[in-house]
Amino acid sequence: MATWIQGRVVEHKHWNAYLHTLYIEADLAPFAAGQFVKLGLEIEGQVVAHPYSLVNPPQQRPLEIFYIEVPEGKLSPHLVPLKPGDVVQLSPTAHGFMTLDEIPAARDLWLIASGTGIGPFLSMLGTERLWQQYEHAVLVYSVRYQHDLAYLELVQALMAAHPGRLHFVPLVTREASDIGLPCRIQQALQDGRLEQHAQTMLSPEHSQVILCGNPQMVEDMQSLLATRGLKKHRRREPGHITTETYW
Ligand SMILES: Cc1cc2nc3c(=O)[nH]c(=O)nc-3n(C[C@H](O)[C@H](O)[C@H](O)COP(=O)(O)OP(=O)(O)OC[C@H]3O[C@@H](n4cnc5c(N)ncnc54)[C@H](O)[C@@H]3O)c2cc1C
Repeated sequence: MATWIQGRVVEHKHWNAYLHTLYIEADLAPFAAGQFVKLGLEIEGQVVAHPYSLVNPPQQRPLEIFYIEVPEGKLSPHLVPLKPGDVVQLSPTAHGFMTLDEIPAARDLWLIASGTGIGPFLSMLGTERLWQQYEHAVLVYSVRYQHDLAYLELVQALMAAHPGRLHFVPLVTREASDIGLPCRIQQALQDGRLEQHAQTMLSPEHSQVILCGNPQMVEDMQSLLATRGLKKHRRREPGHITTETYW
């Protein structure tokens, strides 16, 4: 199999100075919601590539990648100037086990993201499968500043498409905001506000949890959830928590 396939940029949305969404046409093999591709650019004669989660549900095209520009980063600053018509390199297939096939059915699915970690959750929420496997979904989305809350229109549309079944808990950690809870996810769990705003309780009986994004958030939340009886999910030892860390 070829190492890379070529993709063509069809649109590039700039949410703010450092958050962007690339829309790409490419002949990628079928994938499952929650998976990531490797996206690369040829820089000084070599392909520099990193994993990026797909935001579009599997049935939709173009491919969609929500990314942050990391100052001094090896790849992400080079993505920012891309324009429609520009060529990118992609892995021919998507990868990853953070998919609905791997996660047990339950009453509630908690999708807990920091920053760009919301991307794969939007893909999952856009599938029929999720709504067959779970009665309720809780989307928790933590960002630093209010203008980092991307995709709010899509979240509203998903809530309208699944009335009473999708609960949204945004958090804005570094400034006062009229939308989000003013604290980190860890604190909101500890002081009860997370469950209060989600209008549902976390429990080993009823909850599956996916944590995605910042590794510190993922680690802290796993420890906090362990005190509530939720443990890591493994194929051989089913549990309640599935994780994906971005660095
Ligand atoms: C499975 C997987 C899926 C990923 N999906 C995405 C995605 O959908 N969107 C995305 O923006 N990134 C995603 N990443 C991270 C991405 O692969 C790159 O690491 C990121 O774009 C930085 O690359 P760089 O070469 O610019 O920076 P590098 O020079 O590699 O610097 C890495 C540093 O950048 C910071 N960093 C990396 N990713 C992020 C991030 N997402 N948010 C905040 N800080 C970060 C960390 O401090 C890290 O140590 C994913 C990573 C993994 C492992």
